[in-house]
Amino acid sequence: MTVAEVVAEPRHPTPLWSKNDRAVAGLSLALGGGLWAWGWWAASGTADVEETIFGVVLGVAAIGVAASGGLSWITTGRSAVRARQREVASVIDQRVAALPVCSAASNDAEAVVAVAGSPRFHRPDCLLVVGKDVTTLLSSAELLPPRIACEMCRP
Ligand SMILES: [Zn+2]
Repeated sequence: MTVAEVVAEPRHPTPLWSKNDRAVAGLSLALGGGLWAWGWWAASGTADVEETIFGVVLGVAAIGVAASGGLSWITTGRSAVRARQREVASVIDQRVAALPVCSAASNDAEAVVAVAGSPRFHRPDCLLVVGKDVTTLLSSAELLPPRIACEMCRP
């Protein structure tokens, strides 16, 4: 597995909300809107207290119905996002585990390299030095402090 394959973004062609989720949210909002319009119609143009109270009750019910649809929309979306976060974390764990970093299959297990300006020395296949201009450290004296071993590849 190459580094490019490891860091490639997973694709999610499926939407966050299912058709059922969209239907529940859409119907709740539509029903809330309808109840609100009915309440408006019932309460407007009249001075009768009972009709006005009925309209207000319809308006409050409309807000509750619409809010429950919105809440359903948000909670199902959050749930889907969390599921994807767990999936991505799992994929990252699998891909990191598959990386050839620090593998015992190094071509030259004895060789260590360093990047100019860095105190750390690495295995030649360490991801922190791949593609960088490195110097092979030949003597064990070059590995003494202030040089330190890379914490990632542990040469
Ligand atoms: Zn390293």
